[in-house]
Amino acid sequence: MDALIPPGTSAELLYTGAAWTEGPAWLPRTGRLRFSDIPNNRILDWDQASGETTVAHAEAEFANGRTLDQQGRIVQCSHGRRAIEREGADGGTEILVDRWEGGRFNSPNDVAVAADGSIWFTDPPYGLHPSGREGRPGPQDYEGCYVFRFDPGTGVASPVVTSMTHPNGIAFSPDGGTLYVSDTGFYGPHPEAKHILAFDVDGGHAAAGRVFATVPHGASDGFAIDREGRLWSSAGDGVYVYAPDGGLLGHVPIPETVSNVCFGGDDGSDLFITASSSLYRLRTLTTAPHPPTGL
Ligand code: MG
Repeated sequence: MDALIPPGTSAELLYTGAAWTEGPAWLPRTGRLRFSDIPNNRILDWDQASGETTVAHAEAEFANGRTLDQQGRIVQCSHGRRAIEREGADGGTEILVDRWEGGRFNSPNDVAVAADGSIWFTDPPYGLHPSGREGRPGPQDYEGCYVFRFDPGTGVASPVVTSMTHPNGIAFSPDGGTLYVSDTGFYGPHPEAKHILAFDVDGGHAAAGRVFATVPHGASDGFAIDREGRLWSSAGDGVYVYAPDGGLLGHVPIPETVSNVCFGGDDGSDLFITASSSLYRLRTLTTAPHPPTGL
């Protein structure tokens, strides 16, 4: 880990005061870290220059995970709209897709963009829970919880993984040849489902998954891949780092349950960590696979 994190470095608290943070994404043009505060139904921006955190969107329909597409636009998951949506330059959101074969999605949770520009997302049911804490209560329109691939060219979403309990975090390897998806059935009726699976990707298809890693505490809600293909995963007690072969490289303790991470900052080497009520930053010696780009 000394090759990955400057010795003596620990995570730095940037913001606290949320109910449950998720969905970090670095916005290069503005130098801001965008994240969701799902139960408070708002989207927050932490500004690198000022250190201030402000509300980017209130009444955000329980937005969850997000990423940037190949044009640098924000693509995000909406629990409330049961949709994948894209934010325009004016800050307004446009629904890209909200159904499959006529039925609505459950509550899209996290999203990644493939090398071919298609948008892959997970669809567990958390936003439909009767409590209404993270979305709009309601029934599932299809049995199960799938990973979908949305083709912006055709406007159609198709299932690519149908074998998981509650697929949640999602990311691609730097070469796009491997898809990683975590299962958080652990938090529901399937205590054994807390692993990260790896799938070989061939075009728009994912082969049968293999168990890549299982975090020792809690579950892997979300993760990020660095330029060498290492996987930095959230967990109940911090961040775990895995080599591309699944070997555990190390653990970075965080004093709150971690939901997700992303790389960002001016050179892409800062790991931003959403953790329960807070946002943290960890300086690292690696970077995101590609230089930060964004509108
Ligand atoms: Mg998630």
